Amino acid sequence: MTLLELEGVTAFYGPVQVLDGVSLSVPEGGAVGILGANGAGKTTTLRAISGTVRSGGRILWEGRDIRNTRPDRVAALGIAHVPEGRGTLGGLTVRENLRVGAYLRKDRKAIDADIDYCLDLFPNLRERVRSNGSALSGGEQQMLAIARAFMAKPRLLLLDEASLGLAPSTAKSVFDAIRRLRVESGIAMIIVEQNANLAFTLVDSATVLETGRSVLDGPTAELKGMDEIRRAYLGG
Ligand code: ATP
Repeated sequence: MTLLELEGVTAFYGPVQVLDGVSLSVPEGGAVGILGANGAGKTTTLRAISGTVRSGGRILWEGRDIRNTRPDRVAALGIAHVPEGRGTLGGLTVRENLRVGAYLRKDRKAIDADIDYCLDLFPNLRERVRSNGSALSGGEQQMLAIARAFMAKPRLLLLDEASLGLAPSTAKSVFDAIRRLRVESGIAMIIVEQNANLAFTLVDSATVLETGRSVLDGPTAELKGMDEIRRAYLGG
């Protein structure tokens, strides 16, 4: 079943149009990549979904149009956004950040179990559980941002440039954990990633954006075999 469908989505910052026909489809439990050059509109596509930029076209959540829904209501539907730059709360500890992620939940025991699961998924965070967010390395902050989003028990995770600024080995371990999370939780994902090699280790399909428009999409195996994708995104 289709969980989320974007049809001809447009978006504007003030008078400036930055999306001009973005379409993609995320099945229940599926993982879809968004590829594209700097400024192509990848981040804005995630913002259109999470209701943080005004959009046109259709954004269907289980068939219902949620376009221009308030961000808190989008979150309550089960869509969690991990923005580029992470947005962890520097003045709170790791454990407090995880509790903040669960603020809409009332199931205390399950919340504690999920915190434990996150610390299992990211052993670095277990070592730093009493540290403030601001004391964490870039990689640890990324792990915390993902774990905090998971704590909301979303059905769809929007991940923006999770590997940005991380050493290759750290980026790999973050992606290994995301893959495990996907397998164990069945959460659907949209992955915006400059590093297409890394994205392709996780996603089932991807959409390529150029200047705010979907120009290509298909299953990962098909895209990996295309010359234009190899040249533009896979370093050869
Ligand atoms: P990047 O990898 O550089 O983040 P992107 O594909 O995610 O690129 P967006 O961040 O969605 O691209 O930006 C799309 C276009 O919108 C760019 O031309 C960018 O300059 C512009 N833009 C982004 N944010 C704003 C904003 N808050 N106000 C005005 N223009 C913006």
